[in-house]
Amino acid sequence: MPSRTESDPHGFKRRGMLFVLSSPSGAGKSTIAGKLMKAEPELAVSVSYTTRPMRPGEVDGREYHFIDLDRFREMVDNHEFLEWAHVFDHRYGTPKADVFHMLGEGQDILFDIDWQGAQQLHQLAGGDVVRVFILPPSMPELRERLERRATDSQDVIDARMARAANEVSHWDGYDYVLVNDDVEQCFECVRTIFAAERLKRSRQTGLIGLIRRLMKTA
Ligand code: 5GP
Repeated sequence: MPSRTESDPHGFKRRGMLFVLSSPSGAGKSTIAGKLMKAEPELAVSVSYTTRPMRPGEVDGREYHFIDLDRFREMVDNHEFLEWAHVFDHRYGTPKADVFHMLGEGQDILFDIDWQGAQQLHQLAGGDVVRVFILPPSMPELRERLERRATDSQDVIDARMARAANEVSHWDGYDYVLVNDDVEQCFECVRTIFAAERLKRSRQTGLIGLIRRLMKTA
């Protein structure tokens, strides 16, 4: 039987999906992405390139590939990104890697990217993309979470808050919108979406054989 990576729960081959999680910074997206990766060990993760400085606790190649502006520009010129965007005065880009080959092999890939990236991926890959947007329950709660996280200076937190309202205004560019007022509940919703999207008819490429057999014997 094929592994679950390339099949549905019944062992039929299927096409993978590009699973995008976006939210204003601090709304809990990274926690939920981490939980999803743990719950779905076959899920591949796209590690972006960024020009922003590394935060304490981050590891080069794990959260991001940290590169300087010259190298980033070189990668743009060499068409090495599927999409890239300016976020908070820095640049972030999704590497092309082998994404389309992986999709064909049934591999699901998780992307933690902003609304600009979600939009660009959707333009490139349409029905292969599932876009999930996570909202904070309120702006004061968002600020509190950013302050509790204690990874950014007050100036950076102010800038992230200023950007949050703009990010929320792009909620209508997503397939699913969730409110993260309880992280466990929000994660369960994300997992439900993930499971349902895996079973979508358009991804069930391996069912054709069974359907033909069922139709013949009907
Ligand atoms: P942070 O600096 O907090 O890690 O990320 C800032 C924002 O950049 C987040 O909203 C994150 O989703 C977004 N981001 C990270 N990587 C990429 C990328 O490759 N492309 C785009 N468009 N956004 C990204």
